[in-house]
Amino acid sequence: MIDRQIKELLHRSKKIGLTSHIRPDGDAIGAVLGLGLALTDAGKRVEMVLRNGISKTFRHLPGAERIQSAFKTENDLYIVLDCSDLERTGGVLNGREVDIVIDHHITNKGFGKVNLIEPESVATCATLAQHMPDWGLVIDKAVASALLSGIISDSIGFRTSNTSALSLRIAADLIEKGADINQLYNRALISRPFTSVHYWGYGLAKLERENGLVWTTLSLADRHNAGYQEDDDADLTNILSSIEDMDVVVLFIEQKPDQVKVSWRARPGINVASIADSLGGGGHPAAAGVEMEGNLAQVKDLILSKTRDYLRSLKPENGSPRDSEVTEHINGK
Ligand code: AMP
Ligand code: MN
Ligand code: MN
Repeated sequence: MIDRQIKELLHRSKKIGLTSHIRPDGDAIGAVLGLGLALTDAGKRVEMVLRNGISKTFRHLPGAERIQSAFKTENDLYIVLDCSDLERTGGVLNGREVDIVIDHHITNKGFGKVNLIEPESVATCATLAQHMPDWGLVIDKAVASALLSGIISDSIGFRTSNTSALSLRIAADLIEKGADINQLYNRALISRPFTSVHYWGYGLAKLERENGLVWTTLSLADRHNAGYQEDDDADLTNILSSIEDMDVVVLFIEQKPDQVKVSWRARPGINVASIADSLGGGGHPAAAGVEMEGNLAQVKDLILSKTRDYLRSLKPENGSPRDSEVTEHINGK
């Protein structure tokens, strides 16, 4: 039913605008490129817009040079991908109505006229790979590469708890269509500039722990000192989530003097999306985020207190913090 609606909308539109969320990750970029290239092949005029452009990590993908930071013309149809609310597009739609939303965030607000939301899907790119043939779109090598890149990065190389047999079947199908898993995996997750690892160092030096709660900060000064060029966490959250016995990891990334991006990661059974959602952010049970006003110290205090409250509210079988453990601040603070 929803596939028929989307097929019909795509079919009758000549000019189609695609966008996703600010500071786009691999899934956002792969979804915009994958759908954008397939629609172009189907004879549509497509504008692909990401407010902040795309990071170097994903500039090797086919079609990356076509990404714009704003819509230059009016389109017949607007599609928002991998983005749970309108605000997170960074204002690129400028009051235009959203026709179709395609996403896998459980916190998605359903802000399109048609909403294809699959919270059990490992990535928006996986949802696209499954549905695009039903919309009459062809997945060639370039499209498959963009989609597989998104699946690899959102599942952190097929290791998030929502990785299923289906995710691997979808990935295998994309490999059969020509995507080079080895190259895409390496670019998305392994290879990184020296400055990224140097930037981690600043965060790692400030790492703190209180029972199962682990956190650190990345300030603008850290970014500057490391010479890190992007405005994200350089994947430090994923490194921190490998700490054994952790319940929740929180990373605070200063974006401007009074704006802080918060990223949570949680072990299975803990739902950090509920904390993020209550503050105007969103995400998945195991990975969520929010943009907060305030300086690093203020945001850190508020978020840690909300996170502690949430952990305390959990029943023991859901994984409350281990009370017997002593508070440990790794850097002695
Ligand atoms: P991040 O910590 O930025 O890697 O994000 C983890 C997950 O939460 C991703 O699925 C994001 O799309 C989502 N997310 C992060 N920040 C926000 C936000 N401000 N609003 C809604 N969802 C978010
Ligand atoms: Mn995303
Ligand atoms: Mn995603």
